Amino acid sequence: AVRVRFAPSPTGMFHVGSARAALFNWALAEQSGGRFILRIEDTDTTRNRPEWTEGIIAALDWIGVNGTNPAFEGPYFQSAFEPQHREAVGKLLADGRAYFCDCTREDVQARTGSEHKGYDGHCRSRGLSAGAVRFRMPDEGLTVIDDLVRGRVEFPNDAQEDFVIARSDGSPLYVLANAVDDITQAVTHVARGEEHLPNAVRQQHLWPALGARPPVWAHLPVIVNEQRKKLSKRRDKVALEGYRAEGYLPEAMVNYLMLLGWGPGDDREIMPWSEMVPLFRLEDVNSANAFFDEKKLRAFNGEYIRALPLDTFEERCAPYLDPAWDRETFSKVAALAQTRIGVLSEIRQNVDFLFLDEPDFDQGSWDKAMKNSPEEILDGYLGRLELLNWDTDSLKTALEEVGAQYGLKLGKAQAPVRVALTGRTVGLPLFESIEVLGRERTQDRIRAALA
Ligand code: GLU
Repeated sequence: AVRVRFAPSPTGMFHVGSARAALFNWALAEQSGGRFILRIEDTDTTRNRPEWTEGIIAALDWIGVNGTNPAFEGPYFQSAFEPQHREAVGKLLADGRAYFCDCTREDVQARTGSEHKGYDGHCRSRGLSAGAVRFRMPDEGLTVIDDLVRGRVEFPNDAQEDFVIARSDGSPLYVLANAVDDITQAVTHVARGEEHLPNAVRQQHLWPALGARPPVWAHLPVIVNEQRKKLSKRRDKVALEGYRAEGYLPEAMVNYLMLLGWGPGDDREIMPWSEMVPLFRLEDVNSANAFFDEKKLRAFNGEYIRALPLDTFEERCAPYLDPAWDRETFSKVAALAQTRIGVLSEIRQNVDFLFLDEPDFDQGSWDKAMKNSPEEILDGYLGRLELLNWDTDSLKTALEEVGAQYGLKLGKAQAPVRVALTGRTVGLPLFESIEVLGRERTQDRIRAALA
């Protein structure tokens, strides 16, 4: 059976690239009735923080990677397996596959005359009984990684150094711990970010030395931004939590992330998780960099928002609305808002005019709207409102007529009215908004704008 794992290090906010790797693995486990093991790689005690571990678990839960599906196993914590890591180092030493080394970086540089050459194997036959532990790599031939994404990749062994698997205080290094845990957890497929390919070259030798057949490797393409630079915490919006807070739906996020490097093989883009799962294949993942297109993600999100049943949409908006705002009033405009927002947090600026005592005026909008006879329009419209039938058609006809007196098309005539009532130049369809706002408040706001 397929056994995959997702092995994040809790050293920062949970990144969209990590989420994609988790989802690819999750799809593999789910489609095959296999297992998905969550292993928190928490051995770097200088950089780990418990809140980041919690953040990882919460973010995975949000995108549906959680224990409600029996494929899910864990979380395990790598730090708990340190005895096994030490034991593995002991075994490699005993088998002559590893040796102690007491060279400093300066020693090595002095001998090789370069800081780039790597370790020269100096201690291989010195028979030391203390120091850092290095794993002995072959001197000749090739290390071949048959990568499901990248194809066959060859690495000449003479360019590989004997790498450190334990520090001189005995503490094991990541490259070793990661392999030991994968072996113990009987992992069959390792699908992870491309930056780990150099580790695969080393682990391809560690696995057999520890008595196991190496896994199937799949190194996933780098995710890049609009400038084709690798997504970075400093430059780009990378935290899954940030997208959640902004009002991205997890369904849309999952859909979009799955398409970063993979596709169903036809033109479909919007498709639910359940339809992607049976089609997903690591072999079909493109090895080229994947562009994280925020605009496209937003468009996806808009589609998912519009596909929600209206009452679900209203519930999902609730966290972005003031709890004191009347739900019934909101319900009157919810359908109008559903068709036009891209992220849930935008709901607020679209409906707040219904709940605030005074619209939240934006000076820029005001100036922009006040180009064409604004006073005359507002005054003329106000004069019509008192006796008007309060329905969208009448409200519209009245403004059309007032505009016509000043040679203005409806679009132009609407601008000052909209700003007077909502504080903004863009928003929900105007006459529906006025209908919900009601006669009295509409009149008051126009009077206030004229004052
Ligand atoms: N802990 C590693 C990381 O966060 C994962 C390595 C792996 O998947 O093998 O990058």
